[in-house]
Amino acid sequence: MGTLSPDDWQVSTLGEVWGYPFLVTRRLVDPDAPTILLTAGMHGEEPAGVEAVLCWLASDRWKSYHWNWLVVPCINPFGWERNRRTNAQRRDINRQFRKDQDDTPEASLIRRLIRKRQFTVSMEFHEDVDASGFYLYEARRDRAYLGEKVLAAVERVVPINQDPVIDGAERTAVGLIRRDLDGHEARRRRRWPMAYRLYLGHADNIYGSETTISEPLDDRAEAHQIALEVVLGS
Ligand SMILES: [Zn+2]
Repeated sequence: MGTLSPDDWQVSTLGEVWGYPFLVTRRLVDPDAPTILLTAGMHGEEPAGVEAVLCWLASDRWKSYHWNWLVVPCINPFGWERNRRTNAQRRDINRQFRKDQDDTPEASLIRRLIRKRQFTVSMEFHEDVDASGFYLYEARRDRAYLGEKVLAAVERVVPINQDPVIDGAERTAVGLIRRDLDGHEARRRRRWPMAYRLYLGHADNIYGSETTISEPLDDRAEAHQIALEVVLGS
């Protein structure tokens, strides 16, 4: 992130977690433009998400999209450096987002970051060590769904998951898990992923792109960036 031009991106350290800086980068183009929260590295053993964000920032691809950006390239730097899912407390940060839970410094920093903020889109880059191919989570308030379009574009780079049940959920279409993330479903779930908190308070549209670790790292990183481009360009 040191190579980013300060004219384009404002890099800041939001805090420190387990001796690592918690880095955030912003780009504000226009108060009336749509706003995206882009995050990766929630789980330390999912390197392609972080790789994709760094490639994206280092490229000039973002210049084609008139969006305001808030980017957290690596939510879990402790886990990332150890190729480990959890943080230093051995907690899954992506289960710390229900209102009364505040058990990890990483989730606390994210809460602070998103407080009083509203995003058009949240996009999370993940990987799934058990999955047989790329898949996508999608939730949209406006129901102008893009999932199939994302998958058609990503398919040119990596294979799409063909399983009828993906990550314990029945698929909506091949490689796609579309969710109605209403408060009812959320209340039943004891531990909230970040997507719940975002959708119920901070973001109208939610995407989670999931690569499999069996493809080359560059292809996985490219798959995430293609998914992002389809969402931004639609
Ligand atoms: Zn993950």
